[in-house]
Amino acid sequence: DHVANQIAAGEVVQRPASVVKELLENSIDAGALEIKLILKEAGKTLVQVIDDGKGMSVTDARLSFERHATSKIRSAEDLFKLNTKGFRGEALASIAAIAHVELKTKQENDELGTCIVIEGSEVKSQNVVVTPKGTSVSVKNLFFNIPARRNFLKSNTVELRHVTDEFHRVALAHPNIAFSMFHNGGEQFSLPATNYRQRVVNIFGTKTNEKLVPVEEATEVLTVSGFVGKPEFSKKTKSEQFFFVNNRFVKSPYLNHAINAAFEGLLKDGYHPTYFLNLTVDPQTIDINIHPTKTEIKFDDEHTLYAILRSSVKHSLGQFNI
Ligand code: ADP
Ligand code: MG
Repeated sequence: DHVANQIAAGEVVQRPASVVKELLENSIDAGALEIKLILKEAGKTLVQVIDDGKGMSVTDARLSFERHATSKIRSAEDLFKLNTKGFRGEALASIAAIAHVELKTKQENDELGTCIVIEGSEVKSQNVVVTPKGTSVSVKNLFFNIPARRNFLKSNTVELRHVTDEFHRVALAHPNIAFSMFHNGGEQFSLPATNYRQRVVNIFGTKTNEKLVPVEEATEVLTVSGFVGKPEFSKKTKSEQFFFVNNRFVKSPYLNHAINAAFEGLLKDGYHPTYFLNLTVDPQTIDINIHPTKTEIKFDDEHTLYAILRSSVKHSLGQFNI
């Protein structure tokens, strides 16, 4: 079983950023309003996420490390709804298979909480502790038992960039939640709960504010809301391109093409549009369970979505006489 856990772990966890993503999403699923991310050495030696969500009972805390122990799917039908981020029940079990994990958690009405320490899937201790409402998960020494994986990790600069990307994606998808991020003791981001526009500005800098063109469109099959950057603020990198589908960050080369098409003739050679777009579709018309890290997505009717997206972005640019 340890081996099975380690193999599965490699699928879910590729680098510290994968741990960050899974832990942040769990906190969001738990209804947290404030989430703190603490890192050491780009997450290689520590990724800790502290939330003020609903916490877990003693039993649930112990169960949360069992493979397929998701509390989020109650029937096969739920699989198609996927209102929550997690739906595989694999993240915590996988992470615990390849790191030193400490979980502290308490539910609102409990006086005391639970602390569980697990190393390489082995429960080292379980204690009653004094801890605030919510959950803290510390993941130390990632891949301590898989040297090949550990050696495969990139420099701290590169790994921190992946972590930051993940943090940005989650923070953009949930502007109503307060997030902070600390690295080696220093505060990297402090994002108060706010609206979407302000969240974009808080992450990408105050200069971002003047470059945003609002995009709003509501059709029967697709709702679009968010911003594209004015053409003069296009970038040589694709670092400010964000699609969220039903509050989940996704990569979609096809829909990206729709944005490029809307910007046709407006950009200098080698420049890419910036965009921060939220798409809402009927969950039954998408498939997001095609990749363990869940960033890729399949749409039933992507041609229609393409057309709507392209025309709504074009329309918005037109409104700004662009
Ligand atoms: P999944 O998110 O797919 O259900 P995970 O392995 O990520 O699987 O988590 C297992 C379970 O542990 C969750 O279903 C949830 O019940 C519980 N859990 C994990 N993180 C938290 C948290 N931050 N707050 C409350 N419960 C949590
Ligand atoms: Mg999860």
